[in-house]
Amino acid sequence: MDSPVLERLGEIVGRQNLFTSIEDRLAYAYDATPVIEQAPAAAVRPRTVEQVQAVLRLANAAGFPVVPRGSGTGLSGGSVPLAGSVVMLFPSWNRILEIDAQNLTAWVEPGVVTAALHAAVESRDLFYPPDPGSMKICTIGGNVAENSGGLRGLKYGVTKDYVLGLEVVLPTGELLQTGGKCVKDVAGFSLKDLFIGSEGTLGVFTRILLQLLPKPAASRTMLALYDDFAAAAATVSAIIAAKIIPCTLEFLDAVTIRCVEDYAHVGLPTDIAALLLIEVDGHPAAVADEGEQVVKLCRQHGARTVQTAQSGAEAEKLKTARRAAFAALARMKPTAILEDATVPRSAVEPMLRNIQAIAARHGLSFGVFGHAGDGNLHPTCLTDERDHAEMHRVELAFEEIFAAAIALGGTITGEHGVGLTKKRFLERQVGPAGMQVMHQLKRALDPNGVLNPGKVFDPKPRCETL
Ligand SMILES: Cc1cc2nc3c(=O)[nH]c(=O)nc-3n(C[C@H](O)[C@H](O)[C@H](O)COP(=O)(O)OP(=O)(O)OC[C@H]3O[C@@H](n4cnc5c(N)ncnc54)[C@H](O)[C@@H]3O)c2cc1C
Repeated sequence: MDSPVLERLGEIVGRQNLFTSIEDRLAYAYDATPVIEQAPAAAVRPRTVEQVQAVLRLANAAGFPVVPRGSGTGLSGGSVPLAGSVVMLFPSWNRILEIDAQNLTAWVEPGVVTAALHAAVESRDLFYPPDPGSMKICTIGGNVAENSGGLRGLKYGVTKDYVLGLEVVLPTGELLQTGGKCVKDVAGFSLKDLFIGSEGTLGVFTRILLQLLPKPAASRTMLALYDDFAAAAATVSAIIAAKIIPCTLEFLDAVTIRCVEDYAHVGLPTDIAALLLIEVDGHPAAVADEGEQVVKLCRQHGARTVQTAQSGAEAEKLKTARRAAFAALARMKPTAILEDATVPRSAVEPMLRNIQAIAARHGLSFGVFGHAGDGNLHPTCLTDERDHAEMHRVELAFEEIFAAAIALGGTITGEHGVGLTKKRFLERQVGPAGMQVMHQLKRALDPNGVLNPGKVFDPKPRCETL
């Protein structure tokens, strides 16, 4: 530690909370996004809000980037540091500070693991709906920064629908409190909404106030198997047209089903073309009625079989088919690149056809799964990053997939964020005026460009390296 800046960082957070060895730095060089990695100059573990503020003030004075990091499960490189960065870690910020059953709210620290919050509130018959596939590892801080979705998004929405308030350290070190427990509050701009989905570029969350719901009294989980993926897509439209909003309406294609069965042995036939995992929840009478209607609609639209879970354990087993999808695909090749091109739900079938055609044209292997009810698909390319010729074709294929999503009225990312990987597609999505507003907001809040630079729309970092 010969740099005076590193010395000062050690004074702020305590030497035991400053990490500079190559082993430590490598641990924070990547997230769950394949291909991109970069070791930071150091990592710090602040223990108080004042320490977070002091690190950011030092960053502005000395000119180094700071990258907040949750569990590193991000899929767009949001927490992958640029060279010279200091990564800011929150492992000890994992306390649920309050569960207020009267106001149906919870105050949490940013390092709380999402599934731990589920367990804590469900033990009190309350419910926090956002459930990213990574919920056993990812943090609420990361979820708010990415505005993460999950399997229950169709009925319950995404993280932004549950954030009531934030305590945020701004890039220049000031502390901002925004939002609160009031159901209605229109005093000034809705600043909290600016920070949700800001991908760690506008502020560091130190406390988060979340909305809770009463826990649904009943649920029913069904698995429908199809010989034709168009029939599965038609079922999705039919369920919505019947005015049933399941909490979960997930899709797996043939490639993904075969990989899942090979990996998780859930008893799926490997000759089917698609499956839908469907869950309805709510009042027991409504669940019984909607469950019957869903089964009928699946059969009417060509399902080969429809299985209804008879117990909680069986429901969990059926859900394993979906939850294991990414891990199962990732085993097949050295590199699995998962994207989240998203279209209006009525365009799921043409989007699936586009992905198949693009994959075939470039001679690539893709599995597709995702939140069909949200139109949020995860085309996942199974490849090998060491094969440069193939990687070039992978890039072209994803470019075409994003263009197809935009042409269908969709978006380049439904829940994983832009980060490093989708920067070059953003202007196509939001237009020049959208880019200009984002640049202006960033400059207003982060004049020296210290907080997570080089991400989302930032073409290159403006600060010097340590
Ligand atoms: C197997 C798998 C399944 C997944 N399934 C889903 C899914 O269903 N839906 C979905 O939306 N995503 C999913 N993801 C993506 C990922 O889990 C989410 O984006 C998640 O919210 C990231 O949380 P994290 O704690 O790992 O954050 P990280 O990856 O560490 O960071 C993500 C972003 O948050 C910022 N950040 C972290 N903490 C803070 C803080 N305290 N203040 C400010 N910014 C902060 C970082 O700078 C970064 O930009 C999945 C990922 C995997 C690997």
